[in-house]
Amino acid sequence: MNDSLQNVRVRFAPSPTGYLHVGGARTAIFNWLWAKHNHGTFVVRVEDTDVERSTAESEKSLLQDLRWLGLEWDEGPDVDGEFGPYRQSDRMQTYRDYSERLINDGRAYPCFCREEDLEVKRKQAAAEGRAPQYDGSCRDLDSATIDARRAEGIPEVIRFRVPEGKVVFDDVVRGQVEMETSMVGDFVVLRSNSLPTYNFAATIDDHLMKISHVIRGEEHLSNTLRQILIYDALGAPHPRFVHVPLILAEDRSKLSKRHGASSVEELRAAGFLASAAFNYLVLLGWSHPQSEEVLTIEELISSFTIDRIGRAPAVFDRQKLVWMNGQHIRRLEPNEFYEHAAARLPGFVIDNYSESSCREIVAVLQDSVETLDDLDKLAAVFDPDVAYEEEAKEVLADPVATEVLDALRASLVDLGGDLTPETFKMVVKAVGKELGRKGKEVFFPIRAAVTGSIHGPDLSHICSIKGKDAVIASIDRVLS
Ligand code: GLU
Repeated sequence: MNDSLQNVRVRFAPSPTGYLHVGGARTAIFNWLWAKHNHGTFVVRVEDTDVERSTAESEKSLLQDLRWLGLEWDEGPDVDGEFGPYRQSDRMQTYRDYSERLINDGRAYPCFCREEDLEVKRKQAAAEGRAPQYDGSCRDLDSATIDARRAEGIPEVIRFRVPEGKVVFDDVVRGQVEMETSMVGDFVVLRSNSLPTYNFAATIDDHLMKISHVIRGEEHLSNTLRQILIYDALGAPHPRFVHVPLILAEDRSKLSKRHGASSVEELRAAGFLASAAFNYLVLLGWSHPQSEEVLTIEELISSFTIDRIGRAPAVFDRQKLVWMNGQHIRRLEPNEFYEHAAARLPGFVIDNYSESSCREIVAVLQDSVETLDDLDKLAAVFDPDVAYEEEAKEVLADPVATEVLDALRASLVDLGGDLTPETFKMVVKAVGKELGRKGKEVFFPIRAAVTGSIHGPDLSHICSIKGKDAVIASIDRVLS
């Protein structure tokens, strides 16, 4: 596809105050794909100006989760670029300089109102059914008053002077958006501890980092109003805004912890492949032009465009994610799948089988595994210490079972060489012929005796991997 734009620079800007939630992961994926689709630049910027809530562990886990999903960044922590540093806590002087500039241009002003007084006014406004906006008490202080308050050591914040009128912009997802500036009061850009607020720092950084598209959740729409006012005050153009719809849980409430796997870490722990989680998350709010669903990263890069992001909220459907994971597992080469599966094999497999048998086991299970968590249960058919399910016990209680197992035992003892899937099939066929029985009558007792279940992956492979002696031993155990 040759529809790429020039100079696409996008960013994912997490606040390191928690885990990477699936909503954040989807935002990161959309940004990354848009960068890749246009041979552009994907920036990760750590928004850690909330010093009380930001932690180094959270930053570490966010970055680790992004890497797990394959979202390597072109600029960001540990990857220097032209527009760094990429942690807001390392950019404080820049925000102060810009705040100074806004003050000098009359677009921002110091405010000395005490927090307690503001709180009283907010309550009063709420009681009277008004929006709790700043009332502008310090809007027009003269310089003598400002100097006097500073001399008294009264703490000050810097507020943006919100002009009257409205902001109109063209959102890629929502079309033309109009918002009255009266929706917001004069908002704080620098706090009394000189730290910037999110809206201020993000805007200055998006401007300085030459961000072309801001792709983020629609819960940020009212922030966009404030941010556009800041761009306008700086005389700077603003990026294209792409407000992505929310992700809802199946009960249509906002997806949260109580719905189970809502963080990337939980998805990984639950045995989902990164490629499947990635693929599934892209489909939350975006659709492929030909409605294809199971897609490789390359296919996603070439087909992803922001104009196909829909407006309707997306619903997180765990069953579909499980299905998607199975599809991705089926597409792996057996040795690739082994890389994912090896660490998840239960102890009885590791302890009783050689590495090459473990590889064969994993290859046999690859057809039926949906999430890596399933390996534990599905591998049970390879447990030398067979545990019999009820249905298997019933099959084995039938006299036909004894007849079949007796005959099979005899043939196996006579069989020279190792048991391969082919020789196993041959022997079973001969047993059936000899007894005048076929189909389930023959297979169920053997499967029940060898695996303890009457369901499972291909029996000839199971028996060949377990080996002739083990199969004979399971028969003996049943017959005695
Ligand atoms: N740090 C903000 C957040 O995590 C970023 C929002 C944005 O993309 O501007 O919500």
